[in-house]
Parts: sequence; C-alpha cells; structure tokens
Amino acid sequence: MQGVSQLEEFQTVKVYCANCFYCKLLPTESGNAVLRIRCAAGKWKKKLGQEKVYKYCTISRRFQDFCDSYDEMGETTDYIRELRKIVTEEANESAEK
Ligand code: SF4
Repeated sequence: MQGVSQLEEFQTVKVYCANCFYCKLLPTESGNAVLRIRCAAGKWKKKLGQEKVYKYCTISRRFQDFCDSYDEMGETTDYIRELRKIVTEEANESAEK
C-alpha cells in the first residue's frame, strides 16, 4: 500500500492475515530455505483455482478490506508492528549470510 502511512493503514485496513487463525506456515522439506505461508481456509487462489501460497517475508503485508473467514488471534496493531520488525531483521540476517 504505497503512499499510505503505517498509521493510516492500520486505521483503514481491518483484516491482516498474519493475525488470523487460518494463516499458516507451510512445513518445509529439508534444504528448502524459503518459508511459505498459506490460508488454511482456502481463500488464496490462483486464477485457475489452485491454492496460492506466498513467501513468509510478505506475511505482514497480506491484508484485505474484509474476509468472511477472518478469525482474529489478538490485538492487531502492536502485533503487526512487531512482526514487521522481526521479518525485517530475519531478512537482514539472511542477506548477511
Ligand atoms: S481466512 Fe481470510 S483473513 Fe484469514 S488468512 Fe485466509 S484470507 Fe486471510
């Protein structure tokens, strides 16, 4: 969401997938260094209907105006802020390796 401050984003966007019960990490096979996330409620689909998964590093940026399956896990604003810091730190650490 370009051009929108973080505060405006929290005020206008209600549904962060990262704070939803159905947002899950995919188990990785050994040797696969890129973690993925999926929607266990089946809401993330490709054009032809197959399930779509996303890289873990995008987890804090997955949001929607509304989702009828959203199952909030707790307070959103602080959680997403903290998650963004963690994801950024992890990305920086892996870039240094
Ligand atoms: S159920 Fe909706 S809010 Fe929850 S992870 Fe899936 S798409 Fe996101």
